[in-house]
Amino acid sequence: MKRIVVVGAGAAGMMAALTAAKAGADVTLIEKNEKPGKKIYITGKGRCNVTNDCDADSFFNNIVSNPKFMYSAFYGFDNVSVMELIKDNGCALKTERGGRVFPVSDHSSDIIRCFERMLKLAGVDIRYNVTADKLLIRDNTCYGIAIYKGKDHEDIKADAVILATGGLSYPSTGSTGDGLRMAEKCGHKITECKPALVPFNIKEEWVKELQGLSLKNVSLEMTCGKKTIYKGFGEMMFTHFGVTGPLILSASSYYSAFRTKKKETNEAIKLNLDLKNALSEEQLDKRIIRDFEKYNNKQFRNSLSDLLPSSMIPVIVKLSGIDPEKQVNLVSREERLKLVDLLKGLELTVIGTRDFNEAIITQGGVSVKNINPSTMGSKIIDNLYFCGEMIDVDALTGGFNLQIAWSTGHLAGEEAAV
Ligand SMILES: Cc1cc2nc3c(=O)[nH]c(=O)nc-3n(C[C@H](O)[C@H](O)[C@H](O)COP(=O)(O)OP(=O)(O)OC[C@H]3O[C@@H](n4cnc5c(N)ncnc54)[C@H](O)[C@@H]3O)c2cc1C
Repeated sequence: MKRIVVVGAGAAGMMAALTAAKAGADVTLIEKNEKPGKKIYITGKGRCNVTNDCDADSFFNNIVSNPKFMYSAFYGFDNVSVMELIKDNGCALKTERGGRVFPVSDHSSDIIRCFERMLKLAGVDIRYNVTADKLLIRDNTCYGIAIYKGKDHEDIKADAVILATGGLSYPSTGSTGDGLRMAEKCGHKITECKPALVPFNIKEEWVKELQGLSLKNVSLEMTCGKKTIYKGFGEMMFTHFGVTGPLILSASSYYSAFRTKKKETNEAIKLNLDLKNALSEEQLDKRIIRDFEKYNNKQFRNSLSDLLPSSMIPVIVKLSGIDPEKQVNLVSREERLKLVDLLKGLELTVIGTRDFNEAIITQGGVSVKNINPSTMGSKIIDNLYFCGEMIDVDALTGGFNLQIAWSTGHLAGEEAAV
């Protein structure tokens, strides 16, 4: 019987341990926290968006870094497989808008409990409050792992070790990069790790005045000079430091990927917001003319209440350069067209992203060049496997990142047990 140690009881590690045990291996799962799945617990705002009920093409289209690396893992154990596994083991699921799959109970803890039950049934030995410290390696072959619990140190011998220690985001959940350091130490390249699915810090001071304002149906284009880095549509929110919300989080993943590729660029990265996406410039101008006619005797600053949320009016008035006290029927065509331009292209300058404490995902990690995509095995060290967020693969929101963890965890567990 093969002896396997899995490090990390997150989504990827639990799936790897379960699969290896079901394949007949003797599996020990090591977790430095006092319980499994601390990160799963906070996913999907506590509801756990477990996967996405989409077709294979949509799954790959939602992966930002290295989608091709995921082919074998996903086709071997896809979103349908994970939904069946969870449902067959006592946790009912439902699908919401955009194919997002959640437990019917809306409690992420039910997903964790479902895995705990399955691990127990499969006979996995789980050891909590135990930290993996060092891979045991001889002749480029991994033969176990050095661990510690408090002051007690121990070497656990194994036929294979699966690292599933996560990335660097939300370190309070246990993902502090230990596995990345272990992998680097034995020769794996770690591609630069950056926060992704993360809010932006914005240069313009006026964003602070809009703190708390949420906008729906915004169209966003992120540019660097003439290059478009990302285009999207959706919901966003202003904060005391900049912007956040689903649209912004998606943009941040492409921002981080762009910064990794184009380190040397000094050119500013801009977000251009179209606040009136449903209207062409001409239609918007007509709409403004109508509003100006309606508020004919009012000052400019009192003429925009049908067009904009009230907290936004003082900011837009200031940015338009039009005298706020000006009688609205005296606003010139030129001034009006400038207002149209502003509403169709409100420009924000990105200073950078927030840090890993606020990032849903880590972009970067163990280079996919050092991992065999058909097995998740290291190409450098025999009997060593990787899965989950520690690999340089990341996706947009919608359940895709957990699916990466399930698929790669399943493949690593299956192959390590052979
Ligand atoms: C706020 C938030 C919300 C999210 N929501 C969603 C969502 O709804 N849907 C979705 O698809 N994705 C979501 N994600 C992303 C998703 O949670 C992760 O991609 C996924 O959980 C990664 O799983 P993992 O097993 O690779 O790593 P992790 O979940 O990070 O697990 C790694 C485990 O390894 C343990 N560990 C680390 N080092 C050691 C060591 N030296 N010894 C022993 N144990 C160790 C850690 O304690 C941890 O338990 C969210 C992320 C965050 C932060």
